[in-house]
Amino acid sequence: MLFDAHTHLNFGEFSDEERKTLAAEIEESSLEYIIDVGDCVASSKQAIADAEAYEWCYAAVGIHPEHASVATDEDIEQIKELSSHPKVKAIGEIGLDFYYGKDNQPEQIELFRKQIRLANELRMPIMIHTRDANQLTMDILVEEGAFSEERKKWFPKKVLADGSEAADPRVQLHCFSGSKELAMEYVKLGAMISLGGPITFKNGRKAAEVAQTIPADYLLSETDAPYLTPEPFRGRQNKSQYVEYVVRRMAVLKNEEYDHMAEVTMRNGCRFFNIEE
Ligand SMILES: [Zn+2]
Repeated sequence: MLFDAHTHLNFGEFSDEERKTLAAEIEESSLEYIIDVGDCVASSKQAIADAEAYEWCYAAVGIHPEHASVATDEDIEQIKELSSHPKVKAIGEIGLDFYYGKDNQPEQIELFRKQIRLANELRMPIMIHTRDANQLTMDILVEEGAFSEERKKWFPKKVLADGSEAADPRVQLHCFSGSKELAMEYVKLGAMISLGGPITFKNGRKAAEVAQTIPADYLLSETDAPYLTPEPFRGRQNKSQYVEYVVRRMAVLKNEEYDHMAEVTMRNGCRFFNIEE
């Protein structure tokens, strides 16, 4: 009973045969659902093809900031068309990456804004990638209404562990790499913090602190496979079923039983992406 809230089974370098092998491995594992995330029009199409092939696979469609210099309005129009597929559950991954892309920041910002507006128009969850642009990412999300009262009305409230209810504007910070203070600011806005392999790394103290600090009601589990492989497999290619090691580490950090943590992250994932548990 595990949920991978961000993975790339659609990865362009996988052959059809490799993809089938990976899918067969997932079917043998305790993984229940994955969100197969596109980063351009082509990979978004592949994510939908995967979702059509496998019951346990759902898709997110969007254009990653690394493609900001080449992405056109037509591409965004295509993402809009793809998003109408019933197994597409979010717009993503979208955002800012100033680690790789230093020269095209204006294009990244424009592409990001346009895709938040698209998610608002479509009333869909938003999946964020951000690197070396923490404050600007939050500012743009706020400016574009990603946490607006209006947006909060579109989605059912979530019931927290203590029985109270909270609005959920359906914004996921994928592989969150900011501080625990920033994570708490996002939690106050209603965002979900998605954590992966780095919480298992020896040098992953910051991510581990985030896991310890934020309430479990705001946590999602992910792999970002084939990247960011968790320990004890670090150095090899990541696979969605390794989300188990992320959830095991989360359980240790939060002083909870593994089964409980698996259940919570599963429930959070199903609710966030509107998938029947
Ligand atoms: Zn990713």
